[in-house]
Amino acid sequence: MGFSHHTLKKNLISIRDPLGYVATLVIGRHAALLFDTMSGVGDLRSYLKTLTDLPVIVVLSHAHFDHLGGAFLFDEVYLSSQEAINLEIYFDKEIRELVVNNAKKKLPFTHQAVHGLNASSRPDFLELKEGMRFDLGGVRLEAISLPGHTPGSMGLLCKELGVLLSGDAFTPIMCLFLEESLSVNAYLRTLDKVARLSFDYFVTSHHQRLFEKERLEIFRSCAEFSQHNDKGKLFRYSLIPKFEGVMHIFQGSRDNADDFVAIITKKEKKDEDILFDEAMKYRK
Ligand SMILES: [Zn+2]
Repeated sequence: MGFSHHTLKKNLISIRDPLGYVATLVIGRHAALLFDTMSGVGDLRSYLKTLTDLPVIVVLSHAHFDHLGGAFLFDEVYLSSQEAINLEIYFDKEIRELVVNNAKKKLPFTHQAVHGLNASSRPDFLELKEGMRFDLGGVRLEAISLPGHTPGSMGLLCKELGVLLSGDAFTPIMCLFLEESLSVNAYLRTLDKVARLSFDYFVTSHHQRLFEKERLEIFRSCAEFSQHNDKGKLFRYSLIPKFEGVMHIFQGSRDNADDFVAIITKKEKKDEDILFDEAMKYRK
């Protein structure tokens, strides 16, 4: 059971935790920044020491369990105050147990290894606000508000590297089905906002690769398809089955993650008669 990493480009490292969740490490001259902390399974702090000797600033894109679990190993982390409600939802005992029990089917680990379970050791949450800058020495990151997946989702824009770290704000399987998710229109507004920013690639918190900015145009078409052209199919989140939504598949086959583009929107009553055998993993 361990972590692994992949260098995306100079000063930009993608880390994968034992459960397959992903975070990004940005390295400057005098500090490093970890964007998201994955599930909390495994000793993330020790692993970071193998990658950098620099002090590490920890920033969370949002407060879902697969981004904040490892935050409990740090004294302080940055998070939007709009994510306070998600902190409570994802510290709900039932949800934490579901996630952990499901993970244990994949690989054996002890309860102590799941730092996210230990709610008594919460870090100090420092407020992450739009426009806030982190200067790592030669590499600067600016916080950008990216509402949609959650109200307080934040990204980090790095002009020197030409990348936007986007968390779950834009992904090939865009999740807007959660209770805390905003409307498709709110997501479209965020896509408009990002189109005006200068960067070449974006990096999600579920993929170990760079996505070209142009990909966002396909995501826009997918969102519009869900509004006007497609009834969709019922989706059940395999990890937490009570979370349901409507999946609109815009393009690609399930087996080919590279071209697959879909959006999962909130479920309405009219969709109850459509059944969809959910076999897809959230992180794909
Ligand atoms: Zn999320």
